[in-house]
Amino acid sequence: MRVRVLAAAAALALAGGVVALAQTPPPDRTGASIDPAPADRPPERPSDPTAAGHSPPPDTRQTQGKLIPPEDFEAPPVSPDDGAKPKTQGRLIPPEDMPPPPGSQASVPPTPLGPPVPQLLRESDFDLSACKLELTVLGATFEDAAGITDPADRDCGIARPIRVTEILPGLALEGGADMRCDTARALAHWTRDFVQPAAARLPGAPRVTAMTLGTTYFCRPVVGGASTSRLSEHAVGNAIDIAAFRFDDGTDLTVAPREDSGDLLESFQAAVRSSACLAFTTVLGPGSNDAHSDHLHLDIKARNGGYRLCQ
Ligand SMILES: [Zn+2]
Repeated sequence: MRVRVLAAAAALALAGGVVALAQTPPPDRTGASIDPAPADRPPERPSDPTAAGHSPPPDTRQTQGKLIPPEDFEAPPVSPDDGAKPKTQGRLIPPEDMPPPPGSQASVPPTPLGPPVPQLLRESDFDLSACKLELTVLGATFEDAAGITDPADRDCGIARPIRVTEILPGLALEGGADMRCDTARALAHWTRDFVQPAAARLPGAPRVTAMTLGTTYFCRPVVGGASTSRLSEHAVGNAIDIAAFRFDDGTDLTVAPREDSGDLLESFQAAVRSSACLAFTTVLGPGSNDAHSDHLHLDIKARNGGYRLCQ
């Protein structure tokens, strides 16, 4: 009796096991689930039975809409073309592939052979015509001048200069001056809008009839600043220096340190100097540095962001 009970129990257990085994889904080798038992996995995943042969090229279906277990993933072979990328990752770099150390000759780029500055600043026909038309409307007296170059420095010169003798009707630039048309236009606007009106507030309401100039075009480095290697705006026709204003009553106002003099000449000089920054991008004068103690330096240097240097 005991034997029969045990046998019956064993048969029941066996049947239960079969049922349990039948309820466990078989490892899915073609569906979307991931086989959790790598040990059961055949050496190769089943290939497409419709494909000819059993060593087809990589089965692209495995990467389309189906997860690949990490242990099954094979990294794609590195092509010879990709060989350069991982060289710096865990490998020795051959000496010939090493970048040159900073400061060595190999790291010094060749001298750029771009156009010289005067050519970069060369006005188009349209811009030059528009500028000269505006000067004519303002009443300036000028003429075209021959292009200026300097054999000592390719970055000195004026591609299309004009020679200005009167910047406004009856307001002479003593001796005339060669400059870029844009410089003359800024000078004309400033003298019309600020210099003459300021003079009109002086006793007797004189007119400015002439300006005594210092340097206009001159191929030389910046003076008075921290840098001595950078070319001055005078070297490209962008700058003009004004040493004195002459009034029609015969008097002169020489540019000089006038701070705290407490007179109208101080006011006039301060007014024209301050207003010059509305027409020019650089204004220097007495007090800026020793090199500008006896004249106003005005230029139209283009700076990033429209920055202006007015001191
Ligand atoms: Zn200057």
